[in-house]
Amino acid sequence: MLKTPLTLSIHPSRFPSLPRGRRIALILLPCLLLLTAGWDGLSFEPLAQHHLYTIGALAEMINVLTLLFMFWVVQCAPLSRRSYLYLSVGLYLWLVSGVIDVMDEAYAQPWWLSRVEDSLRSLGMLATAWGVLLMVKQMYGTQIRLASLAMSDELTGLSNRRSFGAVLESHMEAGTPLLLLDLDHFKQVNDRHGHGTGDNVLREFGALLRQHCPPDGVVARLGGEEFAIWLPGIPMVRACSLAEQVRSATESLVTTDGVQVTVSVAVGICQEGEEAEALVKRTDLALYRAKHLGRNRVELA
Ligand code: GH3
Ligand code: MG
Ligand code: MG
Repeated sequence: MLKTPLTLSIHPSRFPSLPRGRRIALILLPCLLLLTAGWDGLSFEPLAQHHLYTIGALAEMINVLTLLFMFWVVQCAPLSRRSYLYLSVGLYLWLVSGVIDVMDEAYAQPWWLSRVEDSLRSLGMLATAWGVLLMVKQMYGTQIRLASLAMSDELTGLSNRRSFGAVLESHMEAGTPLLLLDLDHFKQVNDRHGHGTGDNVLREFGALLRQHCPPDGVVARLGGEEFAIWLPGIPMVRACSLAEQVRSATESLVTTDGVQVTVSVAVGICQEGEEAEALVKRTDLALYRAKHLGRNRVELA
């Protein structure tokens, strides 16, 4: 089940639905800030002439309001535990220093309080900065995970049709071989041994392809029992012998469930100025021919 909301709602009506710890943090914060302001006002002499209506005081109040807004957003955001803690504690300290900063416009604070204020601000900013760093790392990690999920086939871990298409589009170069592979009578594997065994066969066949693919090649599962290999920098003769090796290795493969399968392979060589789609179509026709001519064979497009 998807736990994270799809949109980040920061509307005030969100408050009752926030986790209990976050609601407590939100209630405690104004209490702490009022306590700080009250203690400051009661402990120190009012200035003969306060500066509460100056630009400086206004800017300090805006700082406090901005920090309060950031604190609210942090409470609404789905953050990791660590970044949430650093951000919340950092903003707490930063806000207390902000309130002391505003109060010194109206009260004669002792020198040590300005040192406390500076220290709280520095600590608060450091903790907040660390929390932001953790948050960015978390977002980046999530982005990488999602990208890899979107680009790979769940069953075999190979590239999926989408990412294979993108590789073809961006690396179309005349002379590059494309192998299309389709397991023979695979439906019968499912019918005889069940879908689970069929899945295992697909996994093991995917591993076999990975084993035979040269380092710069790209192996993909295009869907069902159809696979493809893109072989940049490999001459046609080697691509044909690789196709034959894969065909023969598949024929000899006995999967862990004791199933045996064969594969039909088509080899297409990218021609000058040929589009990816045209190359796939042309190679697919050769695959169709391989099926028609009895399966378990390699055909050149
Ligand atoms: P041909 O030799 O002509 O290729 O015949 P075939 O049976 O291999 O091909 P067909 O297209 O008739 O059937 C493909 C089968 O692959 C049908 C479908 O149930 C099965 N299949 C597709 N995706 C999956 C999958 O993810 N897991 C399993 N176990 N089977 C799948
Ligand atoms: Mg098939
Ligand atoms: Mg098929």
